[in-house]
Amino acid sequence: MHPFSYTRAAGTRQALDAGRAGGRYIAGGTTLVDLMRETVERPRTLVDISALPLREITVTRRGGLRIGALVRMSEAVAHRGVRALYPVISQALELSASAQLRNMATIGGNIMQRTRCAYFRDVSAACNKREPGSGCAALHGVNRTHAILGTSDACVATHPSDVAVAFTALEATVHLLGPDGERTVPFTDFLLRPGNTPDREHALRKGELIAAVELPALPRPLKSGYLKVRDRQSYEFALTSAAVALHISGGVIREARVAAGGVGTVPWKLPAVERQLIGQRPSHALWTRAAQRAADGARPLQHNRFKVELLKRTVERQLRVVGGGK
Ligand code: SF4
Repeated sequence: MHPFSYTRAAGTRQALDAGRAGGRYIAGGTTLVDLMRETVERPRTLVDISALPLREITVTRRGGLRIGALVRMSEAVAHRGVRALYPVISQALELSASAQLRNMATIGGNIMQRTRCAYFRDVSAACNKREPGSGCAALHGVNRTHAILGTSDACVATHPSDVAVAFTALEATVHLLGPDGERTVPFTDFLLRPGNTPDREHALRKGELIAAVELPALPRPLKSGYLKVRDRQSYEFALTSAAVALHISGGVIREARVAAGGVGTVPWKLPAVERQLIGQRPSHALWTRAAQRAADGARPLQHNRFKVELLKRTVERQLRVVGGGK
């Protein structure tokens, strides 16, 4: 591990000043400390923001939920409002990591976690994300777990967060705090596809931090859920996943929010699937037809062609679980 200094911010202003001066924010530390041990990350200054007042879950005026960035994953899972209104969120969190990690890791840190690409974590391998311009060892290496959507010639790594897939499906908003005040960014614009600059992963400006994620008020009743497909049943990242939320009224699907994980360089919204669903009556034939659009635009690699079919089946199954029908 490289030498670094550590500051504990007592308040928001102190944190933002330290962030503007180049400090790296840390809260639960469940990703960053690992990466520092492996020398993948080498921050010179850590700014501990754990004491900031960003640990509440509140109902918004519009009837949505605002989840503070420092809310622990386990706290969000246990929150009655999250469980009742957005089961897709609590399910995605419960299927993430171990109980110990969920007790430490925060919602903000979960969104900001870095890829599980093995080459990214091996400092002897070429990796444009870790070292811009060095190449991408995964392109012609072992790429079974890598992305099939949103890739570029510079990087094909997946984003590892489960709850970010649920936030993408629900069309959440990210609230950011920075030296110039507060601003909001649609969640679907917050995480960046790699393009030619895979080292740029998010829309945060220098010194900014995540204050909260806001879930929109959606028409009720809203049924939702998260399905994660992986090589083993616990403590594993997704090969594919599907977050689905449906508002069905009068026997017709009025709202459909669908996103996929484990397949994209960012959590992958599926508008073509959603369009197939809206205005239709739930049925198994509809789920099958809609899920055929889940892999539109996919560019599989040598070892992950199986993800194309697996993604369609994952989406179809979760549509059936959430939407029912015959
Ligand atoms: Fe690095 Fe991305 Fe290539 Fe993995 S896929 S080696 S993270 S550039």
